[in-house]
Amino acid sequence: MARLRPLVLVHYHELGLKRGNRPLFLRHLARNLRRAASDLGSVSLRQVSGRVLLELDGHANPEGVRDRVRRVCGVASVSLASRVASTVDAMKAAIECQIEGRSFASFRISARRAFKTYPMTSVELNRELGRFVVERTAARVDLHHPELEIHVEVMPAETFVYADRVEGPGGLPVGSSGTVAALLSGGIDSPVAAWRMMKRGCRVLFVHFHSVPYLPPTSQAKARALVERLTQWQYDSQLVLVPFGEIQREVVLTVPPPARVIVYRRLMVRIAEALARRHGAAALTTGESLGQVASQTLSNIARIDEAAGLPILRPLIGMDKLEITAEARRLDTFEISIEPDADCCTLFVPKHPATRMSEHEVDAAESRLEVPRLVKEGCDGASVETFAFPAGVSVAPADP
Ligand code: ATP
Ligand code: MG
Repeated sequence: MARLRPLVLVHYHELGLKRGNRPLFLRHLARNLRRAASDLGSVSLRQVSGRVLLELDGHANPEGVRDRVRRVCGVASVSLASRVASTVDAMKAAIECQIEGRSFASFRISARRAFKTYPMTSVELNRELGRFVVERTAARVDLHHPELEIHVEVMPAETFVYADRVEGPGGLPVGSSGTVAALLSGGIDSPVAAWRMMKRGCRVLFVHFHSVPYLPPTSQAKARALVERLTQWQYDSQLVLVPFGEIQREVVLTVPPPARVIVYRRLMVRIAEALARRHGAAALTTGESLGQVASQTLSNIARIDEAAGLPILRPLIGMDKLEITAEARRLDTFEISIEPDADCCTLFVPKHPATRMSEHEVDAAESRLEVPRLVKEGCDGASVETFAFPAGVSVAPADP
């Protein structure tokens, strides 16, 4: 028989739990799916009871589209499916198509009916279709550890049959939760934190503090490379580069060494907040993890929060370094993060930063600084760069 042209079948999970807001979340998901595959040929989208279907024209490469879709936040899983009429004979033909050229010693059929008035139950379908596979191959049925699982999803007007299911990131579509400003260093943690916020539906504005000309521009290059990577999940990004060396120099003149790290952080947070407000971001996010370094004690986190007028979200707070590193490897940010560089945190940093300071002590340490002027200088000196994925496709991040 003629090979059935596969279509890309997307399952979502958390979105399905939303009630009143579901159409809005689905609009964000559809927009992001379209954008992710926008350079791969013509793709049309259709929603079918809890799934999204991407139908491809003759030019689009199904595997290429699937690989893009598996990075779209909100997607629980994605498969290349055959679509047939909801008759047992058509299902068998589709199964034949799916198993063609594969060798497998064991398999199972997992049939599901999206409407319960179909004349056969899923158990009956599993039996009938299973028998069909057994007759054609040497494989046996194994319900618990099959080498191949063949999914059959029966809808009122059509049935989808697929064998390989690739997991997506899950979570919520980027754009559905608003915008956050991520403080992005060149390190391992903050890119992972930014991605975690994307996975919760946030569009991320990236803010990087550098110390050019006191230090070489390596940290900016790393920030750019990281943003370019992470843009694969949100399609359009802005990176704000803030000159921080001069500000640090002023801090060194008046603030005693143990208090400097916390004062730097509070200044970063104030500048990031001003930039966030300018760009419509409703919160800040950092890669802090409790206790990982001296500036990340409960006491110091409290002092940092006191400097901010927006919530500071810390998605990695309960993760340890190994878990964060594993995630950075999955995201392909790890290799960029471990490139040697001297970022502003290595400039003018004392040997023994305080791990515990009272509100009063921090206020005293900052008292000789002109904080509003430094914040203004940071914001005024900032430059903005834009990034797009797929490369060359640039659409303003529209909110429906
Ligand atoms: P990372 O691996 O993300 O650099 P870290 O473990 O080195 O984190 P710190 O140096 O204490 O920890 O930084 C804590 C957080 O402060 C970072 O995760 C990041 O969000 C923010 N931050 C630090 N340095 C910068 C910078 N130069 N520009 C922007 N944000 C920064
Ligand atoms: Mg760091």
